[in-house]
Amino acid sequence: MKLYYDLHIHSCLSPCADDDMTPWNLVNMAKIQGFDIIALTDHNSTGNCRSAMKVGEIAGITVVPGMELCTSEEIHCVCLFDDIDKAEAFGEYVRSTMLPIKNREEIFGQQLFMDEGDGVSGKEEILLTVASGISIDGLPDLVNGYGGVCFPAHIDRNSYSVLSSLGDFPPELRLNAFELTPEADEGFYFGKYEYLQGKKLLRSSDAHYLENIREREFYLDLEENSARALVGYLKGNINE
Ligand SMILES: [Zn+2]
Ligand SMILES: [Zn+2]
Repeated sequence: MKLYYDLHIHSCLSPCADDDMTPWNLVNMAKIQGFDIIALTDHNSTGNCRSAMKVGEIAGITVVPGMELCTSEEIHCVCLFDDIDKAEAFGEYVRSTMLPIKNREEIFGQQLFMDEGDGVSGKEEILLTVASGISIDGLPDLVNGYGGVCFPAHIDRNSYSVLSSLGDFPPELRLNAFELTPEADEGFYFGKYEYLQGKKLLRSSDAHYLENIREREFYLDLEENSARALVGYLKGNINE
């Protein structure tokens, strides 16, 4: 079935995202814009995913638990899971690898945990935007161990991307999909990088503000509208 997606959205848990990006607001904005399936991908944390998924159940839109991980090489990778418990376990592991640098709200912004009613349930004290201790080399296998899948984010950006950090794709890197920003020229990237042949292209908003959640544009053809179907599709034949 044809499903409109946005698989890269931040909530108010990300320090750089607007405090109005509450689970209720962001999920319902995505619903208004006509999306069928979205993923919540805060920096280095899955802490608001459970609440957003509950809002999704009410709103009638699939919310996939996820994270935008910053690798030790400072490469952003979107990690998606088909199960919230495993997603949260992965989040705990990622947190254990991070340098415990305290967030300074006045500089970086708040990092708010929220319940499904948009009440503040706590704050993350460690700055989430720093690099984790996880290298991109081992990331696909690590995420797979939690039942998830990962892909490099915004490869066309000149910061925090696999190309800006490494200059090229390591040929041994076992990835099955990659993300471009909505405006990027896919012909350029497929033409320039042999590595990308046959890989699945995803385009998402990377929204940090409600107004960044654009009208639906990009879709996938999935067996059913579920996190399980999405993760299975993105894994493709990577484990064969
Ligand atoms: Zn990013
Ligand atoms: Zn992002």
